[in-house]
Amino acid sequence: MRREGSKAFYIHTFGCQMNQADSAIITSLLQREGYHPAENENDAGIILLNTCAVRENAVDRIEHYLQHLQGMKKRDKGLIVGVAGCVPQFQREEMFTMSPAIDFLAGPDTYRTLPLVIEQARAGIRLASLEFNAAETYEGIDPVREGLISAVVPVMRGCNNMCAFCVVPFTRGRERSHPFKSVIVEVQKLVASGYREITLIGQNVNSYSDPEDGHNFADLLDAVSSEAPMARIRFTTSHPKDISEALVRTIAERRNICNHIHLPVQSGSSRMLDLMNRGHTIEEYREKIALIRSVIPGVALSTDIIAGFCGEQEEDHQATLELLSAVRFDSAFMFFYSERPGTLAARTLEDDIPEAVKKRRLQEIIDLQNSISDKHYQDTVGTVVEVLAESESRRSSEQLMGRTDTNRVVVFEREHYQAGDRLNVLISSATSATLIGRPEHGVVQH
Ligand code: SF4
Repeated sequence: MRREGSKAFYIHTFGCQMNQADSAIITSLLQREGYHPAENENDAGIILLNTCAVRENAVDRIEHYLQHLQGMKKRDKGLIVGVAGCVPQFQREEMFTMSPAIDFLAGPDTYRTLPLVIEQARAGIRLASLEFNAAETYEGIDPVREGLISAVVPVMRGCNNMCAFCVVPFTRGRERSHPFKSVIVEVQKLVASGYREITLIGQNVNSYSDPEDGHNFADLLDAVSSEAPMARIRFTTSHPKDISEALVRTIAERRNICNHIHLPVQSGSSRMLDLMNRGHTIEEYREKIALIRSVIPGVALSTDIIAGFCGEQEEDHQATLELLSAVRFDSAFMFFYSERPGTLAARTLEDDIPEAVKKRRLQEIIDLQNSISDKHYQDTVGTVVEVLAESESRRSSEQLMGRTDTNRVVVFEREHYQAGDRLNVLISSATSATLIGRPEHGVVQH
């Protein structure tokens, strides 16, 4: 049984890397005030759900988890439950009606208020701390990260685009970039702690603009790459309209910047891109792909696709299949459209594609992309790739799992290697999502 007033907290994080980074910030903020992380939810006096509103099933999972917490609260009256992140920011006080288990709500810009909000919850006051703060970047907070190999570093928050299907502008507010100098200081700390991979993240990371000196994302990536020459540098997620030649050249010139760009396209049809309010045509997207491939040989590209968005005709769907065949992405996140309340699409467009049609189109997209990914991976069999070992493989303690700089997952014989090693691996076989092999030549670097 928990003690009334326990300062042990447990965060359950849903959704994207940005939410994981926010959980690391929340942990730091709570520790400053004398709270401490619990090993698991059973040992915690405070359970916090850091939530994501992007996908419908993510919200369903949160509802389901709240039912479970309600059962826990019946057995332990001292337990405090809070919901943070994008779902309460969007649903606001109405969220309290989702479950009586909820004691407080906090939005992405109000995490500094959490200690106060928890105190109020203990006093029986159900607070919703949901103000937007366009200046909040959590500068000066040292995130408490899990693991010692890969670190994500948020460099900007929010988004000024208004893609019709997307809830992010309404949950995370206006775009704001972290000061260039503070990103560099954080990277220096990560280097001193021995991190082997640093991923710069933002909803629209390549629209980064230093609020003090106006440095752009290419400048930032270049500086981070110099500060951390022994680490791999990644970044996500990029918007096609903000891919500049300077950025592409920086990736090509810097050996430790990974040869992988995730560049969401969503549809292969300019008509759909217009309805989606993406801010570019498919021809412009293809021009960016051509630029990237001409400057960075061997680059791996991945993307996001939405099947069955409002008004999508069969020819629009065919255009998406044609794009996949032409670009031959390494991999893709593929979904069928589901309306998110409050978005531009929900307010102005009719969700008019029958679910059966959406699912059929999605399946055609998945089948095509899987065959393309499979070919990419099969082409790697017999070659040697450089891998950063991340962890033990899920299947066997005799194997490690890591990634190539093109972000392909590799499972290989462990031998004497350990997580954090960079080594060459000879690929002996492949599925459409995993390369399998054994070490070759010895460790590249420690
Ligand atoms: S760029 Fe579009 S899809 Fe990405 S976060 Fe902004 S509004 Fe959403």
